[in-house]
Amino acid sequence: MTSHLPETIPPPSRSSVEESARTDPNSLYVHCRVCPKENHCCYRAPTIVVLPQEAKLLIERTGRPDLLIAEGDGFFSIKKAPGEPCPFLTEERLCGVYHIRPIDCRSWPLTLNISANPEEQLLEDLGCPPVQQRALSKGFEKASQVILSKIPEKYRRKFTELVHRDFKRDGIRPGLHESAPQNGSRP
Ligand code: SF4
Ligand code: SF4
Repeated sequence: MTSHLPETIPPPSRSSVEESARTDPNSLYVHCRVCPKENHCCYRAPTIVVLPQEAKLLIERTGRPDLLIAEGDGFFSIKKAPGEPCPFLTEERLCGVYHIRPIDCRSWPLTLNISANPEEQLLEDLGCPPVQQRALSKGFEKASQVILSKIPEKYRRKFTELVHRDFKRDGIRPGLHESAPQNGSRP
């Protein structure tokens, strides 16, 4: 695979990403590194949503505004074709912008739902093997909810609409997410 990584930002080493996976409670690399779908989600969709403040940081750090597509209201998506890798994915299949990756990446395979029902606020990607195996850790679920809750209220609807547009285009099957049981039965 050709590296699509912008030359202005060095890719992380494998050991540094694995260290992040151990120390960053928001990380799904623990799961994604062993995903039988091999970074499926870094290929998964035409739209990886980038919030306005995330776009600012990505552009500042990479110097590559050309890798983002304006989606209106200050939102962007990462420029990629369906089935093509995210331009920030390295040849080692690691995220080249790991520490500033968008919330859409950090929270996945969980994301926001459009529902007024407080018990139906989270969706999960039913195509994700750890979801299918009910193997997401409670720590990750909690971290994902926390990171999604950081999306400012004024951005939540647009963020959700863009992500849901993604579902339709890419055939992603979303399901309502039920919180992990509190009895510690999940890893
Ligand atoms: S920004 Fe990183 S985690 Fe997100 S799709 Fe691209 S390579 Fe994957
Ligand atoms: S399908 Fe699940 S485990 Fe695989 S890359 Fe996506 S989020 Fe990670």
